[in-house]
Amino acid sequence: MTHTQSDGLPGPEGASPNWGMEHASLRNEQMAGNKIECNACPVLCQISKGRAGACDRYANRDGLLVRLDPVVVLQQSLLQKDTHIQDSKLGELSLREATQIKAQDHEATPSHGVFVTGVGSSTTYPDYKPAPFIVASQSRGVDMVTVVTEGIFSYCSLKVKIDTDRYLGPEQAAVRCQGEVVGHVTTAEYGSQMFSLGGVHHLTGGSKKEGRITMNMMQALGNRDAVEVQVEGGSTVVLQAGQAPIVNGVKEQRMRVGCGSAAIGIFAQQWLGLCDEVVVVDDHITGVLSEHQAGKCLHIRPSGIQIKGRKSTPGRYFQVANPGTGWGGTDIEDPLSILDAWDADVARPGLRLLMTSTTGEHAAWYVLDEQLQAQEATMPEAVRQVVDRIGENCEPSMVSVLFLGGAGGSLRAGITDNPVLLTRAIKRALVNVTCGGAPSYVWPGGGITIMVDVLRMPRGSFGTVPTPAIVAPIEFTMRLSDYKALGGHMGYVRSLDDSLRHGAWHTDGAPTQVRWEAPSIGDNPWPLDSPPMLG
Ligand code: SF4
Repeated sequence: MTHTQSDGLPGPEGASPNWGMEHASLRNEQMAGNKIECNACPVLCQISKGRAGACDRYANRDGLLVRLDPVVVLQQSLLQKDTHIQDSKLGELSLREATQIKAQDHEATPSHGVFVTGVGSSTTYPDYKPAPFIVASQSRGVDMVTVVTEGIFSYCSLKVKIDTDRYLGPEQAAVRCQGEVVGHVTTAEYGSQMFSLGGVHHLTGGSKKEGRITMNMMQALGNRDAVEVQVEGGSTVVLQAGQAPIVNGVKEQRMRVGCGSAAIGIFAQQWLGLCDEVVVVDDHITGVLSEHQAGKCLHIRPSGIQIKGRKSTPGRYFQVANPGTGWGGTDIEDPLSILDAWDADVARPGLRLLMTSTTGEHAAWYVLDEQLQAQEATMPEAVRQVVDRIGENCEPSMVSVLFLGGAGGSLRAGITDNPVLLTRAIKRALVNVTCGGAPSYVWPGGGITIMVDVLRMPRGSFGTVPTPAIVAPIEFTMRLSDYKALGGHMGYVRSLDDSLRHGAWHTDGAPTQVRWEAPSIGDNPWPLDSPPMLG
């Protein structure tokens, strides 16, 4: 039995020709029948020549274990248009080819303004080797280091914000994908409804099928693909990061301007003199102008209107109807159905009533007849303009997908010999944690629990392994002196140039190609400039 061959990439400058072999794990072994064992995750695939492993991320290329995807490198100069055109010819080349071309084109070191991301960088799990790239660089004259790896996340989920008033389902209801439960409806937020999808219990705590479907759903949503889910007792929703949600086959257009009460407060002045009464229908808080504080301040006369539902405070009503996909997130199609008979001692024939939803998508104009019955009439142009302004103030509906992952486990061993020091350094804001170069929010409390907007990450950032778990990029940037102090793998620190020219330090399963990208995704701050290290 022999060890996996080197992929031919040399080690760091000045290292012996066998550097990679000496430093590589002894676990990647050439098996009988020209198979290689991949040890990048606990599945330990035995891969035949010319074939890929179970995750399609690693392959046996002529007896060498290689990472199939290119490592993604961000370069600031690609933001300049002319440079971008020049660089488009690079495509996906070998690391060596790409760096040579870039050096010729720019007549400068190709490492200037460059950030190696964890996307495609490779890793080992559970991290018995140092991270594949531990890159030294300078920022504003300070010696920095970025530890780059792919993380294998068993503990991870997606928090999905869906901008819509339409009823998606009851809180705590199960969310299913291809028939399997993959998450649940969580709290509704202002103008949005929230799903919590994935998580370790669905990945590993149920059946194999549940775990596989959960994993594939998470990968697809993370990579900005569309996924259809069904809410038990609710709607069918198509989710795609950055796109409008599609609820029961209808593409959502607008996020509401506010609740019904807020809409009254915002537009009361503009309705003054045009309407005698306004009702903004909302599943949460339906607003009534003449009773609302905003109407009182404008001395609007009582109208005698009587609203079904539970009165909260003057001019604010809860539960006027059931939740649904009709007016204002209720189940009603006829807005008059939420009104009781008018108070005959107060109401008067000719009274002008506007009823609208919180987005202005639904609106109707009525005038009371002699019997105090509301009769629909043509909406005056001036009133229509205010309704249109409600619509104008609604932001486009969008699905936002945030990846939430726990990086406080063995992943830390790829960074330091003393993992708790990394955790403490992050809590002390000495380390900038990014995912594919995108800024992450680190949750307070124990562990390293990060949250990142997938739209700010490079496309195709997420992969899977059939344990099942999600593969996602993660980078830790800090001062070189801090890295040393927290017990970092100083023997594996290499310059940016050297990292770009030679790839990952290890030779088994290392990426052999690079994909250059502009770092402009979502206006991300440049990872090396971000506070707190240099603030
Ligand atoms: S699933 Fe992928 S990472 Fe895991 S052992 Fe197989 S090829 Fe390697």
